[in-house]
Parts: sequence; structure tokens; C-alpha cells
Amino acid sequence: MSSFLPEFAFSQAAVRVRFAPGVRHDTGAEVERLGCRRAIIISTPGQVAMAHDLRTDMGEFAAGVLPLAQMHTPVPVTQEAMLQVGQMDGDCLVAIGGGSTIGLAKALSLRTGLPQIVLPTTYAGSEATPVLGQTEDGVKTTLTDARIQPQVILYDAELIRSLPVSTTVASALNAMAHAAEGLYARDRNPISTLLATEGLRAFRRALPDVCRNPRDLTARGETLYGAWLCGTVLGQVGMALHHKLCHVLGGSFGLPHAETHAVMLRYTIAFNATATGALLDPIREIFDDGDIGHALAIFADGVGAPRALRDLGMREADLAGAADLAMSSAYWNPRPLIRGEILGLLRSAWAGRTVAKAARAERQSQGQMAAVVRRRHR
Ligand code: NAD
Repeated sequence: MSSFLPEFAFSQAAVRVRFAPGVRHDTGAEVERLGCRRAIIISTPGQVAMAHDLRTDMGEFAAGVLPLAQMHTPVPVTQEAMLQVGQMDGDCLVAIGGGSTIGLAKALSLRTGLPQIVLPTTYAGSEATPVLGQTEDGVKTTLTDARIQPQVILYDAELIRSLPVSTTVASALNAMAHAAEGLYARDRNPISTLLATEGLRAFRRALPDVCRNPRDLTARGETLYGAWLCGTVLGQVGMALHHKLCHVLGGSFGLPHAETHAVMLRYTIAFNATATGALLDPIREIFDDGDIGHALAIFADGVGAPRALRDLGMREADLAGAADLAMSSAYWNPRPLIRGEILGLLRSAWAGRTVAKAARAERQSQGQMAAVVRRRHR
């Protein structure tokens, strides 16, 4: 069956994308191509050496390095970075790093109007979206603004070879979550479905190879290709329960972004699979398994993904608060959200229950709720 829909809307920002091992050496030329002179290079403190190498490589096209990026784009960090940007003679931004670095570049672009060139070094996919998540006073909020979509993306597989295998796996599952939720998005279109399917297929094929040999440039390139496709889906359509829960867990409870996605994926997609009919068939086909939760769990376990929220530092006592936050200003979701069921899902993910056990727990809780309703109506 094709992905055709009788009615749909499609729009795509004008973005220049290049894939090649070593393409980072063209960053200066890309600055010039944008009509700019000197770029401010953004990184995390941990990737400052990579940023300085790029600065040396870019020569006169580099204005300096700003290694301030932090996970979840805290607003006070952006404000500090703004002070430094004001003192640097730059007319564009170059972000070299993962979603945190790209988040800071977007936050700065939003406030200054400076154009962006991005060299992604994880699979998070933020480079392909006009979305920015920012954290202030313990709450993460997202905004969408076409002006913060980076103009140029340079995918250099050589840069991602240093990503540790554990982070690689978590980041890849983060990307796959964009595709999985894209398949049942309310505003999906035939192209987003094609992109999601091909993105999932790329990870299915190449991620195990990357885990076996993290320096395999071809496999790294294919997983970056998957990240671009999945990120593009994230930029095109609305996300649902999975992303909402991960934003709550990351923004309000400080859990690491990619690892949280990696743990949650099997539970949230299995939860929504009961309400999405054939929409998730691409996953069933790619993983050759009719049981979505089982398919995702086997794949994630096979590449050594983290299994439980408790292993990421989540406290059991905070699960109820997380369920409350997830229910407040909830995203649209294909399956109606009931607080008790969300709490049950979080409990399963916290303990790292098998998906089959999680489904049993869900049926039991539904049975208990039905009994309460029956008693009330007697
Ligand atoms: P990250 O950018 O924080 O990277 C994780 C760690 O790995 C960092 O310490 C980083 O310096 C290091 N690292 C990155 N690449 C490396 C490499 N090649 N070699 C060695 N170390 C490397 O993590 P992330 O998961 O990429 O991004 C998470 C952030 O991105 C979150 O704040 C999330 O909200 C945001 N995000 C935003 C969007 C969007 O569309 N707005 C999409 C996805 C993620």
C-alpha cells in the first residue's frame, strides 16, 4: 500500500544539506556561500577541542568559539552567551555538536537573527527542525519558528565516530522515536511517512554495525542519513505522548534526553499501537514482528539500550508528579490519555518491566478502574 492520503498539506523549509566524510573542511566555503564573513562557533564544554579544530580549519571565516551549550537549553546560559556574542565580531553561527549545541545556536539565532550552519555529531535531529526547547525555572517549553531552522547542514560521518557507543544507541533511539510518532501524527503527509519509514530502515540496518565497529564510516554515514530523515519528520509533523513524556522527564526531573527516549520508546509506542490500526505497519514490516512493543524491545536490547528510568536517576516518588505534568497541556495523542494509565506506563518504564508485563499491568489497572466505575453506578 502507498502512503497516499486523500487530503494533506506539505511544506518544507529551504535547507542546504551535504553528506560526505570530511565535509567539515568546507565549512568556511559554506559561510562565504551564505554571504557571511565570520562565524561564531558553538559547542558544549566537552566538545571544545572539536570546535577549536574547526576554528583552525576555517581560518579567517571563524570569529571565535563559544563552548557554553548545555542540555535542555537553559535560558540563563543563553543570556550569558548573548553577552559574549555581542562582543564577538560574527555575522553567522556554526554549531558543532548534538542537540544541546544546536539548541543554543537556535536560541541565539532567535534573539539575533544570525543564520546558522550546523555540523551534527549526534542523531538527535534538531538541525532539521524549526523547533526550540528551552528550560526556565524547571519547566521545559518548546516553540516553533521558521526563522530558527538552520540554513545549512553538513553531515560529516568522521565527526560522529567519537560518540561513545552507549550515547550512540540512545541518540539513535531518540531519532527513531521521531519517526515512530511521525507515522501516526495527526498532520502526517505521504512524504513524512516515506521519510519516517526510510529513516527507521536506515537505523535498523546500520545501527548494529555501528555498535560492532563505531569507527565504520559507511555505517556511521547511514545512521546519520537516518537521523536526517527522522529529524525532518520531527520538523514537519506534531509529536504525541512519547515526546511529551520525555520533555517532562528531561525538563522537570533532569533526566538525560536521549537515554530517556531510549527507555520510553518501547512502552509509549506499544501503548499507542492499540489505537493506531495499520499506521505503524512500517515498523512491523521493518522489524518483521507483528508485536510493536516486542519488536522495539528486541532491537533496543540487542544494541544495549538502557532499560529503566530508575537507572537514569528517576525517583519512584516523582512518578505521580510526572504523570500530572504529562496530563497538563498534553499533546494531541491517538489514544485518549487517562492519568492512571500514564502513571502505569511510567511505572513500567521506571522498573524496566518487559513490554508483555507492562501490558498485563495495564489490563489489570483497566479492570480495576472498570470495577470502580461499576461500583459507582450500582
Ligand atoms: P547533547 O547534544 O547534549 O550531547 C550529549 C553529550 O555528548 C554532550 O556532552 C556532547 O558534548 C557529547 N557529544 C556529542 N557529540 C559527540 C561526539 N561526536 N563525540 C563525543 N562526544 C559527543 O545530546 P543530544 O541528545 O544530541 O541533544 C539533546 C538536546 O537536544 C536536548 O536538550 C533536546 O531537547 C534537544 N533536541 C531538540 C530537538 C529540536 O528539534 N528542537 C530535537 C532533538 C533534541
